[in-house]
Amino acid sequence: MQLLITGGLGYIGSHTVVELLNNNHEVVIVDNLINSKITVLDRLQKITGKKPVFYQIDLLDKTKLDEVFVKHQYDGVIHFAGLKAVGESVQKPLAYYHNNLTGTLHLLQAMQKYSVKNLVFSSSACVYGLPASVPITENFSLHPENPYGQTKAMIEQILQDLAVSNKSFNIAILRYFNPIGAHTSGLIGEDPQGIPNNLAPFVAQVAVGRLAKLSIFGNDYETVDGTAIRDYIHVVDLAIGHIKALEKLNQNPGLVVYNLGTGKGISVLEMVKSFEKASGLTIPYVFAPRRPGDVPVNYAECSKAEKELNWKATKSIDDMCADIWRWQSQNPNGYPDK
Ligand code: NAD
Ligand code: UDP
Repeated sequence: MQLLITGGLGYIGSHTVVELLNNNHEVVIVDNLINSKITVLDRLQKITGKKPVFYQIDLLDKTKLDEVFVKHQYDGVIHFAGLKAVGESVQKPLAYYHNNLTGTLHLLQAMQKYSVKNLVFSSSACVYGLPASVPITENFSLHPENPYGQTKAMIEQILQDLAVSNKSFNIAILRYFNPIGAHTSGLIGEDPQGIPNNLAPFVAQVAVGRLAKLSIFGNDYETVDGTAIRDYIHVVDLAIGHIKALEKLNQNPGLVVYNLGTGKGISVLEMVKSFEKASGLTIPYVFAPRRPGDVPVNYAECSKAEKELNWKATKSIDDMCADIWRWQSQNPNGYPDK
């Protein structure tokens, strides 16, 4: 298939591009590089031996985006591009609503205009907010608790309405749990700008000495060791989930929604232990107060994706930490600037 990948140089997009190229799909990437580096393109070529077509374009630039639809014909689109930092979205809600909603509307308008009807959309477990119980199934109600999560829920609603209005659209909404890990080559991985907000990249940067110690937010939760529980999923498992979703869209299902996680909850301390095992290092940490807005326990029920997509996460937390360590130790300061 010939595919348009928005945000394809970002963390999840780049890992998905590797799987797509390795499965002989043709890929056109659009990314404005607001949260990624052009070096990723060289790394993709190193891993796959193929160089994807790349356009540095902002989805907010409707004219330029349209040109990418005129230049190539697509069998489908995977839409990763968006701003994703929860805390920043609270500080800059208008930037988040504008980028994520307007960017998506431009994309959907172009898809409609040029008759591209298959879409895979990156949603997030944060659309569920504080779940009434765990594991979380796809039919739980949506209660996003911050502007970032709101943009995901709003886009989901837009997609639902589009699918009702036009039956030829096939849309897979994928609700990711906590993607971590890196490609086993160590050539691509997660490279957040500034001090990481998320646990895995923070631990990795402590391990390479960029940060002094980890603060564990809360050790008084009602969990196995008092620390909060999340469903961490290896980014390569997640990437493969997108290929399975594309295959599903070829069966004309209309709009479908899937949780992509492992179904297994891991505590912060368990993650730290696994990372210590992978790196052979001791990760210094202190306990700190709970982070406002954090959910104590969050993990997915993934049987729908297993049944309907024939997809299941295969990699363990030890695999995830080993791959993060390989990426971070080979690239202690992340991607170089070109
Ligand atoms: P990322 O920031 O690494 O990748 C997103 C890419 O989109 C970046 O390369 C960025 O430069 C690009 N981009 C942003 N706005 C753009 C615009 N207006 N025009 C063109 N390019 C633009 O993020 P990621 O972790 O790879 O996440 C990919 C998608 O998955 C995002 O939509 C994110 O919200 C969603 N998601 C991520 C996580 C996670 O923990 N990483 C969890 C759930 C959902
Ligand atoms: N966390 C932590 N220290 C950090 C970053 C995260 O203790 O420096 C905790 C956080 O409170 C949460 C878990 O690790 O319980 C996962 O956090 P992350 O931000 O990675 O994912 P999210 O909370 O968005 O699911």
